Amino acid sequence: MQFQIETIQELEKKISDSQKITLISHSSPDADTIGAALALGSVLKAFGKEVTLVCPNEIPDFLQWMPNVDSIIIHDVQGHKVNQSIVNADLLFAIDFNAPHRTGNLEKPMLESQAFKVLIDHHLMPDEDYFDLMFSAPQKSSTSELLYEILKSSSFKSLIDYEAALCMFVGIMTDTGSFAYSCNDATLFENTAELIRYGIDVKATHDLVYNSNSIERLQMLGYCLNQKLVVIPEKRTAYMSLTKSELEQFGNAEGLTEGLVNYALSIKGINFAILVYEKSERIKLSFRSKGNFSVNDFARKYFEGGGHFNAAGGKSALNMEQTIQRLNEIIQNL
Ligand code: 5GP
Ligand code: MN
Repeated sequence: MQFQIETIQELEKKISDSQKITLISHSSPDADTIGAALALGSVLKAFGKEVTLVCPNEIPDFLQWMPNVDSIIIHDVQGHKVNQSIVNADLLFAIDFNAPHRTGNLEKPMLESQAFKVLIDHHLMPDEDYFDLMFSAPQKSSTSELLYEILKSSSFKSLIDYEAALCMFVGIMTDTGSFAYSCNDATLFENTAELIRYGIDVKATHDLVYNSNSIERLQMLGYCLNQKLVVIPEKRTAYMSLTKSELEQFGNAEGLTEGLVNYALSIKGINFAILVYEKSERIKLSFRSKGNFSVNDFARKYFEGGGHFNAAGGKSALNMEQTIQRLNEIIQNL
């Protein structure tokens, strides 16, 4: 991607002029928000800055091996410390989300903070009023790939080391489902190859992320596919749902349902898949599509959500039964 030279210069100057820099990841963190934050954090620390990484909630088990993941401060665990680091920062980075409300409890300190606010993200429709400088690239596979292109275009390129490259690689690998979607782009593979040349063991990294299922997760998957999958062939749609008590039967660990919705989308002839699940007393929905159907629009229109063209999420204030009834009505009218 070509950035305006002035935009990169402004970023470099803001970083040079700032001392306290806080990098914010989104709620229910995935490998892209964590990988990009760890990579940028490592570069900024190497540049001599006082860097704090914060995240609304716990990082799932399958990412606990990532370099320096323990340095991320979790709001659910150390709320005051996280709030202070946001309010007192000179410079804030929003990593892999497009608006402050995507960070749950961090929204309030984000709105209070007087810091200069930079967006690095690939979601549609960023909150332009909030950010002072935006790197918003919905066409990019991942925020990690976007970050790599930004760093490559800047004077910080020489500060990328093996660990930073690995973190960005993991973000790209997971946001593309191991190069299975958001991947019709030769540049993505060129960027990935450049990162691999820092010394990444691709196979071992893949195993760390994907071949590290808990037994509970596989059993949850079996249960869900066997008992909870509803297919509506005439609408090319399939959905699954999991209540809190069902999730609790399988331990309800952070990240338990990660990737689950893709199984419904993998059915031949299905191009719209939905997972409805209960999370922290709320009903959340995950939407995925193949081809020309915008789940970003669908999520915005019906479920107070958004995301990407083919992957989005939303929420419902109704209970599980009512949400599924409403969902069925909406699907019938598509
Ligand atoms: P997931 O289904 O994996 O939770 O989310 C898919 C995509 O949709 C992610 O890129 C995520 O940022 C976005 N997303 C998920 N939930 C919401 C939501 O409630 N609101 C908005 N605006 N985006 C969401
Ligand atoms: Mn992402």
